[in-house]
Amino acid sequence: MNMQSIRNIILKSHYDREDLVHLLQLRDPEKAELLEHASGIRKKYAGDQIYFRGLIEFSNICRKNCLYCGIRSAHKGLKRYNLNDEEVLETARYALDCNYGSIVLQSGELESKHFTGRVNGLLNKIHQHTGGRLRITLSCGEQNRETCLRWFESGAHRYLLRIEASNPELYGRLHPGDQKHLYSRRLECLYDLKDIGYQTGTGVMIGLPFQTIADLADDLLFMKQYDVDMVGMGPYLEHENTPFYHLRNLLPGHFERFQLTLKMIALLRIMMKDINIAATTATQTIDPSGRELAVDAGANVIMPNITPVKYRQYYSLYNGKPFINETFPDLEQSSDFPGIKLNNQIAYGEWGDSIHYLKKQGS
Ligand code: SF4
Repeated sequence: MNMQSIRNIILKSHYDREDLVHLLQLRDPEKAELLEHASGIRKKYAGDQIYFRGLIEFSNICRKNCLYCGIRSAHKGLKRYNLNDEEVLETARYALDCNYGSIVLQSGELESKHFTGRVNGLLNKIHQHTGGRLRITLSCGEQNRETCLRWFESGAHRYLLRIEASNPELYGRLHPGDQKHLYSRRLECLYDLKDIGYQTGTGVMIGLPFQTIADLADDLLFMKQYDVDMVGMGPYLEHENTPFYHLRNLLPGHFERFQLTLKMIALLRIMMKDINIAATTATQTIDPSGRELAVDAGANVIMPNITPVKYRQYYSLYNGKPFINETFPDLEQSSDFPGIKLNNQIAYGEWGDSIHYLKKQGS
């Protein structure tokens, strides 16, 4: 196919599955053209600003056993931790002081009354402690509708629940085949979150064992069909204490997974112009400029890890997770993210709600 024909596909107003499969396989210079087009769309429809969320990984205790995940419950050698309420509140306050407008509370998945009640209490306390000035995203796995509603009413504004793989068969291969790991339950939860009124986020891993390019094209179509408000997706990275580790030599290399991730971000940006898309930490594990390049491909959200340093090494989802020891001082004063600051405006202290969500709400 010549350059003009490829350009015609890139500029289409709607992509079908065949287009996506084709575009996901682009190499430079056509790939660079795709990314540039997506970057222009981001600036035009989602704005020229980049939003920062402070990520607080408040507990690595999880009841599940996803076959790819380093903090799965069967990983018995991992030290488990749980920040106490004071530590969470202090970290939330730190986020506010450092010019973040928004935080993400992330943990492994637990459904116990104690856990769900605790998260509810934390939401109330954080809002009291920070004068309601922070937007709060939760990322605490699948919960029943009642819990999701209770948390929403206590001031959780957004919820991130990655589908990880939208193909039910592939999803089944990534998880133990028991009642704790049902695709149908994940989907039900995603629809409950949206119905309750959350800004709802999902996402997938890219370069997984058994995953095809057509699966990735279907992931993009799934996100469009689900009408997602925000997305976090990044390259699949191995962890040595997982059942999937022995498959690592069968996978595309890290560079290839990273390039695919950039194309996925760019295509999703073109398909869903005004949603929030995160430049995930996993991109940075492969390339030191990973998040900058993801922003250049159409992402508009960055989530620095502000979990107290002494706990970070234990939230080990994959090998080589970066920023184990770095602290992130005041966003405006710090010299971090030079490339992003140079080429974009940073929305210091702003909530950065998904424009897509706000339009649906009629605001
Ligand atoms: S992916 Fe999430 S639910 Fe699965 S084991 Fe890891 S932390 Fe738990």
